[in-house]
Amino acid sequence: MASYFDEHNCQPTGNNGPEPETLLNWARVIMANVREFAERYEGIPFPWELEMKAPPASKKIVENLEKVKIETIGTKCPVCLLPFESGENASMLPCQHRFHGNCIQPWLSQTNSCPVCRYELPTDDEKYEEYKKDKVCT
Ligand SMILES: [Zn+2]
Ligand SMILES: [Zn+2]
Repeated sequence: MASYFDEHNCQPTGNNGPEPETLLNWARVIMANVREFAERYEGIPFPWELEMKAPPASKKIVENLEKVKIETIGTKCPVCLLPFESGENASMLPCQHRFHGNCIQPWLSQTNSCPVCRYELPTDDEKYEEYKKDKVCT
């Protein structure tokens, strides 16, 4: 089979930089790769879609939050900023932060993280749990 140069009746120009044909081939390779890349990653979210909005904390977890008796006078609930009554039962998250039950429950029905330290509670949202696992791995 005749080479490209024979067919087109021209000669390589030697070491004067890449041939126009070479550049064209590169462009083709790049375009093909872009297409292949786009096809391969179709359906994979773009980075700006990766920050999923956090779902509410698992209802079960919220219902079964540990209750602790507040004994230190002056301890405040970080949500409403009011001090606990001495001997009052507060809801404690696994991160040890304590809240009025009436304060933390509405919060956790909106999002799954501690309002103080952003400790994440498990959720009932399978998709989010998967996403979280992926995030930890990468
Ligand atoms: Zn409170
Ligand atoms: Zn916390």
